[in-house]
Amino acid sequence: MTGVSAHLPVCPDNPPLRGLIDACVMCGLCLPHCPTYRLAGNEAESPRGRIALAAGLIDGAIEADSAALSHLDHCLGCLSCQTVCPSQVRYDDILVATRARLDALRPPSRLRRALRDPRLLTRAARLAAWTQASRWLPKLATLFPARSPWRRLAQVEPAVPDPLRLRALPATPKRSRVALLRGCVASVYDRDTLQAARYLLEALGHEVVETSSECCGALARHAGDVAGAARAADETRTTLETSGAEVVLTCASGCHGDLRDQVRPQGLRVADALAFLVEDARWPTLRFRALEKCAALHLPCTQVNVVGDVGKIRDALARIPALSITDLPQQPRCCGAAGTYFIENPGIADALRDEKLAQTAALEPDLLLTTNIGCRIHLGNGLRESKSPLEVTHPLALLARHLDNASP
Ligand code: SF4
Ligand code: SF4
Repeated sequence: MTGVSAHLPVCPDNPPLRGLIDACVMCGLCLPHCPTYRLAGNEAESPRGRIALAAGLIDGAIEADSAALSHLDHCLGCLSCQTVCPSQVRYDDILVATRARLDALRPPSRLRRALRDPRLLTRAARLAAWTQASRWLPKLATLFPARSPWRRLAQVEPAVPDPLRLRALPATPKRSRVALLRGCVASVYDRDTLQAARYLLEALGHEVVETSSECCGALARHAGDVAGAARAADETRTTLETSGAEVVLTCASGCHGDLRDQVRPQGLRVADALAFLVEDARWPTLRFRALEKCAALHLPCTQVNVVGDVGKIRDALARIPALSITDLPQQPRCCGAAGTYFIENPGIADALRDEKLAQTAALEPDLLLTTNIGCRIHLGNGLRESKSPLEVTHPLALLARHLDNASP
């Protein structure tokens, strides 16, 4: 983190932020649900502590020095606190508004600027995929100093999934047009998931349009770059509103909330792809081949706290005969991925991930399922580092692989 020591400038919209902050009655009921508080046992690493910190910063009572700001940087944005808050405090808005103010005070490093730029991220991911960087980047990483974030970035280069080998679908008359959000990083590292979603949707007779615009703006917004997030949202909104679709589907739970609440395309419903499939009247007509395996299900924070529809994931997977599904224990809720958090805060991110992977190992599953690309990358890298053969995949990919209504 860049060292700073200053007071936040007074902003014209401090009163609304002050109103959001004042909704917190400091009851502390959110504390046991906060992953960073669980790890540190320190009030400053809790939601209540961070809200108090935000209040002190905007009032000028607390100086914005590196020590104070690190507690805000450490927040995963998992929103477990917001979900359990009886006073309905809008913690997400407080966090983003406070980080946006800090952004003006603390120019982001080159790495931070890159991590919040969806175009740059997408291009880098495509280049890494094309050059099969996961084979040589970890060796290159050793050239950077041990604590350098660039070293971390090179070390966590995820493997690009192979395309799924799927049987041809029988011709079906098209009955509706749906848009599928590709996302930025997900368009490369979750391409098998997108392929699976398209396949299952086409099996139900939907025409699928994949968006050319990449991003919902979530990475930029959560970093406090509200202008960058708004630009990404504007581009995506325009693309979606001219797509001719009635609904836009997300495969990554991390993209869903920002697409729904910030992009807000006019005339299009935003839905989770799995929930949309399960709600389709023709869904029961699909048949799936049996799979005698045990899958551990990791539910991302964004799936639980933002998207919902958790029951529909289980309903969908229950269609695969003989497949046994076990949820990972809820605590710690977060695996530590949290967008680009796992690159910027590897200490906390890896501690949370290691706990999650230990819980996974205790279940002795044959595969690990998750509905968010960030979790898939972070957990997958942890498994790779520990030389575990366990595969992390999206439930959509598993369903597509086992669809039986197709030509052999
Ligand atoms: S955020 Fe909500 S649960 Fe947490 S201390 Fe404030 S009022 Fe209580
Ligand atoms: S968003 Fe998550 S990490 Fe941040 S304060 Fe709330 S519970 Fe803790």
